[in-house]
Amino acid sequence: MEDIVKIISIERVTHDVKHYRVEKPKGYTFQPGQATEVAINKAQWKDERRPFTFTGLNEWPHLEFTIKSYRDHDGVTNNLDNLKQGDELIIHDVWGAISYNGPGYFIAGGAGVTPFIAIFRQLYKDNLVEDNELFFSNKTSADIIMKDGFEKMLGDKVHFILTQEGNKKEYIDKAYLQTHIKNFSKPFYICGPDKMVEGISNILKELGAKPEALVFEK
Ligand SMILES: Cc1cc2nc3c(=O)[nH]c(=O)nc-3n(C[C@H](O)[C@H](O)[C@H](O)COP(=O)(O)OP(=O)(O)OC[C@H]3O[C@@H](n4cnc5c(N)ncnc54)[C@H](O)[C@@H]3O)c2cc1C
Repeated sequence: MEDIVKIISIERVTHDVKHYRVEKPKGYTFQPGQATEVAINKAQWKDERRPFTFTGLNEWPHLEFTIKSYRDHDGVTNNLDNLKQGDELIIHDVWGAISYNGPGYFIAGGAGVTPFIAIFRQLYKDNLVEDNELFFSNKTSADIIMKDGFEKMLGDKVHFILTQEGNKKEYIDKAYLQTHIKNFSKPFYICGPDKMVEGISNILKELGAKPEALVFEK
């Protein structure tokens, strides 16, 4: 399946991340945590599909993607960054990326937080955020996607970890997890770059957890 959709609006989120709100085709539905492949509807880019997560809710009249652009090479995300309102994207079938299976611990690195945006928006709307906790790791505070939004939805249940800022550098390592996690039998949801997901998943397994993980970047 393939649908051509117009960009309704673009909003800057951080120095390299934007929200793209696009038309929602009739009958197009998804669950929080699901994704689709997106291409830019221009001659040389039509066949360059990349996976992106829906960050809005299914009930919204439009779709939203929240996309980090890699401006250091001429890929799809760099070209998305130059698009304007009215430009077109091609979206495809919806597929599961990561799904909510009950209250637990969410661990995200950078743009890996996008499936959790949709999941927490839904939980917040349904008044079910309680008993969930989010650990969101970034290089610096300038990289944090939707800081205010997560604070509003999660209150003191969101923890921001900064790995490259000032002299207060933190990492989600074994010691961090042992200090901050009270119950390793709850569900764990991890999403982020390859190395982070692999490292944290291995530690969690060692500590008795069964993490659900999604790799975003190699
Ligand atoms: C299920 C799923 C859902 C996703 N959802 C989102 C989302 O909601 N939001 C989001 O921002 N991302 C998301 N991603 C990640 C996103 O798909 C990638 O960032 C995107 O495909 C990169 O496309 P590109 O053409 O710009 O880069 P590509 O050229 O495809 O490169 C991919 C990666 O390789 C690196 N790379 C490759 N070539 C070079 C080069 N020459 N110089 C430097 N670096 C290079 C880049 O760092 C990049 O991470 C998701 C990934 C998956 C698997």
